Amino acid sequence: MSKTDTSEKLMEKIVSLCKRRGFVFQSSEIYGGLGACYDYGPLGVELKNNIKTAWWNAMTREHENIAGIDAAIMMHPKTWEASGHVQSFSDPMIDDKTSKIRYRADHLIEGYIKQLEKKGKTEEAKRVNDEFVKAQNSDDMTKALYELIIKEQIKSPDSGAFNWTEVRQFNLMFSTKLGAVADEAGIVYLRPETAQGIFVNFHTVRESARMKIPFGIAQIGKAFRNEIVKGNFIFRMIEFEQMEMQYFVKPGTQLDAFEMWKETRMNWHIERLGIKPENLVWYQHEKLAHYADAAFDIKYKFPFGTEEIEGIHSRTDFDLRRHQEYSGKNMMYSDTETKEKYIPYVIETSSGCDRNFLMVLCDAYTEQIEDGEPHVILKLKPELAPVKAGIFPLTKKDGLPEIAEKLYHDLKRHFKVQYDDAGSIGKRYYRQDETGTPFCFTIDHDTLNDQTVTVRYRDTGNQERLNLSQVKAFLTEKLS
Ligand code: ATP
Repeated sequence: MSKTDTSEKLMEKIVSLCKRRGFVFQSSEIYGGLGACYDYGPLGVELKNNIKTAWWNAMTREHENIAGIDAAIMMHPKTWEASGHVQSFSDPMIDDKTSKIRYRADHLIEGYIKQLEKKGKTEEAKRVNDEFVKAQNSDDMTKALYELIIKEQIKSPDSGAFNWTEVRQFNLMFSTKLGAVADEAGIVYLRPETAQGIFVNFHTVRESARMKIPFGIAQIGKAFRNEIVKGNFIFRMIEFEQMEMQYFVKPGTQLDAFEMWKETRMNWHIERLGIKPENLVWYQHEKLAHYADAAFDIKYKFPFGTEEIEGIHSRTDFDLRRHQEYSGKNMMYSDTETKEKYIPYVIETSSGCDRNFLMVLCDAYTEQIEDGEPHVILKLKPELAPVKAGIFPLTKKDGLPEIAEKLYHDLKRHFKVQYDDAGSIGKRYYRQDETGTPFCFTIDHDTLNDQTVTVRYRDTGNQERLNLSQVKAFLTEKLS
């Protein structure tokens, strides 16, 4: 089996597990589904909430100078003129006239460069890559990308045809109408990022939370993008959730803050989400937005390729300055000690919750062959696991269920736990392994005599005895 076959199979297995065990479902599936929209099921919502809590705690509660907000999805339309989204939040698209399939022009060229590299044509790949970088930086990027595709005679990946339209820019923002009168003035957008809700609240948060520079504002919320190219399960969706933090600093100090946040965010993925460090890589943007002075992405080695999960960007004073210009409101910060006045610079950390979710699943997915059968174990960090413990009476008689039920009721107010008395104990362990439950407690006949239960560890299968009265303290310690 080739590497790609294995990777494809792995992705198929993860998607199937997600559906079978209630992590993620295709949205409105009974109607045939809606492209690139997904619903989180009973276990999925637990895992997703745990990821969000891990982020929220690390980014707000553990920093006395970062406050959280939850801004509205719809904002005054001028917000998006100021941010530049109305004018330029678009992707360069090109259509294959033969197959009618639409591609992102930049992805097409990247794919072509990868093909050249695969064929060992390193020099040629380098030459095309240099021209690609030049095209992306040119004043008329759309035209330059088109010319490169034509010059290199890049063929359509699906039909093999060389029958392209021009490259055109498609705006990614969804719009809708506000109020009863459907005219231009009533157009509002579904936010394509949560960041702008933070920028427009710069002063309200600063004043109400009594913040002094440097300080940050954090937010978790839905964002919407009319992505033409969808796919890779929940990796690229049209409705998704972002976890963003904007950190306001004094101009001139931004690069130190940038380095600090780069390190902090990479560590968070490793320590708080438990991602294997070798699966995370840094990517430095070669092409910077005109207002940015540094930009790196954290990428994860997904089965379908190494792709972005988070961006860490130094955005200068661009956003606040533009809001000052478009709203006519003062966005300056006055330092009461030094008496200096300035528009703060911003370091942003912008992560996709759904991509983090997919990364966590891919990283935790493990197969072990047991009795000739593949045995799936989701080796999730216990803090992230949707269910923390399974509670099993060994049999449905001899008073064992009563003890197990009591334990279940005692624990359920503190932890997400599951009671299961169906099937053999081995099957019950397996059901919990497959969804990442780190511990299982079994009540057996010894419990009747000595008040102890068996605790079984998911990753090793090791078992030990524990006093019934110790179970809550055991879980508290393991999950802290
Ligand atoms: P890409 O290049 O993959 O489209 P991006 O650079 O446009 O991503 P940003 O605008 O930096 O992404 O958004 C910040 C984060 O939001 C990304 O790192 C990603 O985790 C998440 N994100 C962006 N677009 C989507 C999407 N369509 N579906 C799911 N998550 C997304």
